[in-house]
Amino acid sequence: MIKRRQTRRIYIGGVSIGEGAPVRVQSMTKTDTRNIKATIRQIKQLELAGCEIVRVAVPDITAAKVLGEIKKRIKIPMIADIHFNYKLALEAIKQGVDGLRINPGNIGAKWKVREVITAAKDRKIPIRIGVNAGSLPKDLIEKYGHPTHEAMVEAAERHIEILEELDFHDIKVSLKASDVMKTVEAYRLFSSKHDYPLHIGITETGPVPEGVVKSSIGIGLLLLEGIGDTIRVSLTDSPVVEVNVAYEILRVTGFREKGVEIISCPTCGRCEVNIKKMVKQVKNALRNVKEPIKVAVMGCSVNGPGEAKEADFGIAGGKGQGIVFVKGKILKTVKETELVNALIEEIRK
Ligand code: SF4
Repeated sequence: MIKRRQTRRIYIGGVSIGEGAPVRVQSMTKTDTRNIKATIRQIKQLELAGCEIVRVAVPDITAAKVLGEIKKRIKIPMIADIHFNYKLALEAIKQGVDGLRINPGNIGAKWKVREVITAAKDRKIPIRIGVNAGSLPKDLIEKYGHPTHEAMVEAAERHIEILEELDFHDIKVSLKASDVMKTVEAYRLFSSKHDYPLHIGITETGPVPEGVVKSSIGIGLLLLEGIGDTIRVSLTDSPVVEVNVAYEILRVTGFREKGVEIISCPTCGRCEVNIKKMVKQVKNALRNVKEPIKVAVMGCSVNGPGEAKEADFGIAGGKGQGIVFVKGKILKTVKETELVNALIEEIRK
């Protein structure tokens, strides 16, 4: 069992974060927020996939003004992503968002910062400080020579100081870079000094599979060190894919169990069935199952049931026929064409 670092508890809407709460899965919409219908549709898809907190970009006042309308129609808490503009932050708070992602050091005049922080405090809305290696202050780049992990942590500390001076502690922090090890070092350093909850992820990782590999290594490494309270997988792909990958990372690292885990063999010269097609059919048939179960789809009955002993249910192919097994024990032999249906029937029982 991995010992998680103790962090402070905050709440985004009704979702608990930090202080032993489960590691939460976040994502961000990719629609134009001003397109209310499309944004709601995407958030509903994310809800179905298990996303627990959604972030939406707020590029202008029109986007800020539709947040209330969107929020009314969704179930999960919503965070407004704002850069610089305090008016957008105030409008987002007025619209009832559950969290803000804004860097107080970038808001400008002190009175503007105070206005935003007072409004957030009144509504008990946490603020995420999001440091990105690509946009560090010039003086920090000069001090450290380039955007190092120390520079990233110092940038976060500057924003934190502003909030703490205003007696605001409902803070979550992210320290993202597209370089995996730099990101990991930044989170390690920060968590050795502070107990604010951390939103972890690798930024701008690219498409599948490159982005999945980078995210899995970076997020996985941190989780296994006990670091991280919420995660987001950033991919140049649908946000639903991001959520699916996030849950896989949490499953593999032992932090969350959700839905069906498919164990399938890579196939070899002994395989006489179309495993790829069968896996697709099984995944599709079980996509709405929420209970954590392991299902094996193996290429042959010589090694299949043995190799997949850990699975709750499974099938293994053969020449024109195959076997259905439960916990490694053979239940029956059926025709190849009926194999997937027989497995699904057994699971549904
Ligand atoms: Fe090969 Fe059978 Fe193992 Fe699949 S289960 S990899 S087909 S030996």
